[in-house]
Amino acid sequence: MRSFSLSTHLSDYLKPTQIIYELKAKDKVQALGELLDVLAKQKLIENKKLLLTRIIDRERLESTAIGHNVALPHARVDTGGDIAVAVGKSKSGIDFDAIDDKKVHIIILVIWNPSLPGLFNHLFAGLAQFLRKDGFRRRLFEAKNKTELLQVLSEVELRLPREDRIISRGSLLEKLQTIEIKMKKAKGSQLKQLKEQANLIRQELDRSLVDRFDRLMKRYGFAVSEVNEGACQGCNINVATGMSSAIEGSNDIYVCENCGKFLVASKKKKK
Ligand SMILES: [Zn+2]
Repeated sequence: MRSFSLSTHLSDYLKPTQIIYELKAKDKVQALGELLDVLAKQKLIENKKLLLTRIIDRERLESTAIGHNVALPHARVDTGGDIAVAVGKSKSGIDFDAIDDKKVHIIILVIWNPSLPGLFNHLFAGLAQFLRKDGFRRRLFEAKNKTELLQVLSEVELRLPREDRIISRGSLLEKLQTIEIKMKKAKGSQLKQLKEQANLIRQELDRSLVDRFDRLMKRYGFAVSEVNEGACQGCNINVATGMSSAIEGSNDIYVCENCGKFLVASKKKKK
């Protein structure tokens, strides 16, 4: 397994030739095709058809629209290099089945090498963190040309957050739990399909996160717990008020200080 420097920037992987300032595409598949064409032209990828299938498979599992009108479609495929990135901007917006129902105006397509498992989640976390900054978002969407767009994106650092929360990964971890619970009763082709889905998720999450998930699943049969009316549903102990309100309406992962399970916001609507 190769390692990579933890303090890299998106600019290390992004050249002006990998940016489309105005996408022609009107839908998701067209947009992905347009971005893959750019990577093929730059000789960063070879098998466009296979990649498109992989990317769509991943989208079916959960939309990669991460909020703020940005989507991060991706596939983990060995293309010879470490990582291939292409960015496209769409003025009219593209429907990406986002959780917030918002159209996507910036698509960042990432193909990364399976031998670098940490690379993608560092990019994901870094980008999610930058997208929370108003100033960054404004400059990203107001970029007047390709050069300006590249300049803004270049600032994104590839790194995991230092604090004990994993940015914007709550729903994916919860999905992994649902799949693994189903796997216990599944057989044959259904089991095979569930295994494939679980692997897709595992591949893009941080190793330490997956290890912790597995330990919890083994011990309790589940690893992700909702916070309902301020209490962890895994142990019924109240979580700190500040944490409880931070979890509310967020897709970040926190950890219960009492039982150690991952905490996510409750999907039940408040009275
Ligand atoms: Zn708990």
